[in-house]
Amino acid sequence: MADRITPRKEDFSQWYADIIQHAKLADQAPVRGCLVLRPNGYALWEVVQGELNKKFKETGHQNAYFPMFIPESFLNLEKDHVEGFAPQCAVVTHGGGKKLEEALIIRPTSETIINSMYSKWVKSYRDLPVLINQWANVCRWEMRTRPFLRTMEFLWQEGHTCHETEDEARKETLKMLDIYLGFVRDVFAIPVIPGRKTESEKFAGAEETYCLEAMMQDKKALQAATSHYFGQRFAKVFDIKFQDRNSQMQYVYQTSWGISWRILGALIMTHSDDQGLVLPPKAAPIPVVIVPILQKNKDNSEVLNVCNKMKEELMPHHRVLLDDRLEHSPGYKFNEYELTGIPLRIEVGPRDLANGICVLARRDGKKSQVKLSELIVRVNEELSDLQKSLYNAAYERLKNNTHLENSFSTFKEKIESESGFYQLHWCGSRACEDKVKDETKATIRCIPFAQIRETGKCIVCEKESTGRVIFAKNY
Ligand SMILES: [Zn+2]
Repeated sequence: MADRITPRKEDFSQWYADIIQHAKLADQAPVRGCLVLRPNGYALWEVVQGELNKKFKETGHQNAYFPMFIPESFLNLEKDHVEGFAPQCAVVTHGGGKKLEEALIIRPTSETIINSMYSKWVKSYRDLPVLINQWANVCRWEMRTRPFLRTMEFLWQEGHTCHETEDEARKETLKMLDIYLGFVRDVFAIPVIPGRKTESEKFAGAEETYCLEAMMQDKKALQAATSHYFGQRFAKVFDIKFQDRNSQMQYVYQTSWGISWRILGALIMTHSDDQGLVLPPKAAPIPVVIVPILQKNKDNSEVLNVCNKMKEELMPHHRVLLDDRLEHSPGYKFNEYELTGIPLRIEVGPRDLANGICVLARRDGKKSQVKLSELIVRVNEELSDLQKSLYNAAYERLKNNTHLENSFSTFKEKIESESGFYQLHWCGSRACEDKVKDETKATIRCIPFAQIRETGKCIVCEKESTGRVIFAKNY
């Protein structure tokens, strides 16, 4: 492990790796491309789970669990789906020392196994809607991997639903995108652009894919979550039929939606700085740490008593850590909490106590003295202000690095020298989309819901376009 964090300006990608190491979020596994999620990283994942489970359940969804092994034949049933996933699949051919009659795929996603079960469970309109989510690991054989962003095995949740009508399924698809948007914006303080994927970028087997696109500090795009509308494609393949209200047999309409631990990569790359991880207070497993300024070989009981009382007062409002270790100096501790991103540090020393004050040090560098009697109010204020200010900084970056461009040659020069989101006119053809990708590595991140609708000329072929789409390089 490098003993310092590489500055972002020097090497953004090394900076990212250093933050993960120094904040003890994850480590490389013995198997290339796999990641060990350490307690600090897992605690962040639990924040994702906790917040989303609350929202999923409020909207009528339930959690369930399906096996990680999928019969190979299942994956072959839907043409686009198999083409999309087969190259990335890990396949089990032997078990218990014998060759298996049918190979088993380690799930790259669970549409097929879940739908095979839904065909047994759904018989009547009374069985609908089916609103199930699972938290699971999935496996995709990646050649080039990066912690959280692209790993062979990763954690995610995948929701899979069945509905009576197209209208209901389409509403569900957008409702779930909206739940992700609320979480990413309000808890992780990451501004995103919601929109629709083009044919070439959508999920294998979906009729529509919706997504949230965020901008990282290096101005590259990161897809934060997706929600897919399947229509009846999988229902027809897996024969998920029900008797409708008029006693007619119908296929169900379906959706699936997911967010993976990539979102932790987004969190890191949106807010962190050259000193370490930066966590917005609502995303922090522990938002407040109290560091007493203790003196070796002296009686520290007065300071410790006050710190314990502070912790008790704050606990009903926030999770608080009191770091009363004597074996480490206050300076060592300050450094450690800067690396691990704790949003607010409370420092209390004997001299402060004599004056009835303590020091609040925010992770973004702002420091203030507060009266002990005003502690709770001030802690709440500082945390809520920090949450807003991190969001605002990320929002400003997104806004300032989103450009309108009309000339292909200028765009090529610009994106080469400076990443960012480029709002370009596009005729809708795959050929033009591919040409941009081949020449610049930028892809259409989304057709934004808030699209700039205006007539213009496709940036590549100059045919008519009715609106701008967002091109960017992405993770
Ligand atoms: Zn074109």
